[in-house]
Amino acid sequence: MLMMGRGHYLSLEQIVEAEKIEEPSEVTRQDIKRAARESVLRKWQNQWESSQRGRNYYNYHQNVCQKIPKDLPSKWSFSITTSLRTGYCDLNDYKSKIIPSSDKNCSCGEPETVEHYLLHCSNYEEARERMRTSIYFITGNIHMDLDTLLGIDEEDINRDNRNEILCHLENYLTESGRFKNTIQQKTL
Ligand SMILES: [Zn+2]
Repeated sequence: MLMMGRGHYLSLEQIVEAEKIEEPSEVTRQDIKRAARESVLRKWQNQWESSQRGRNYYNYHQNVCQKIPKDLPSKWSFSITTSLRTGYCDLNDYKSKIIPSSDKNCSCGEPETVEHYLLHCSNYEEARERMRTSIYFITGNIHMDLDTLLGIDEEDINRDNRNEILCHLENYLTESGRFKNTIQQKTL
């Protein structure tokens, strides 16, 4: 029973009738899409907020992102990011095209392409989730693809956040350790 002003109560039947009236007469595809999207985002957000593993990162994340200097990424990550954009990079799939005898596969067994390294490789899942979360907080978009990470052209929908995204990509490059040798070559 729902209490109205001056002690007036609605009966269950009246409430049910009222709810029926408020139901949309037709559910469109857009309604379904929107509902699905909101539900996924809510689920993901809940999962993230209740995750102990991510707790520390979640807490300091906001500060980190607000303080990213404009001159990032560094020269090191700039050169690697550029190589990932062109595909001429220090990953096995490309190297095997230059040196046919070399193995094109990643240590996980899959061909080590740019897409594999950035989006799929199971070796770097934790670093990737940190990157995905950080980018989600900036863009509000949970979907992360190569354009999200590497896009720089005029159609880059993340233009306004590009510096910050590149900073998180740089963290991923560092945390994955995949370009450690590239660092040494640069340092020498
Ligand atoms: Zn792999």
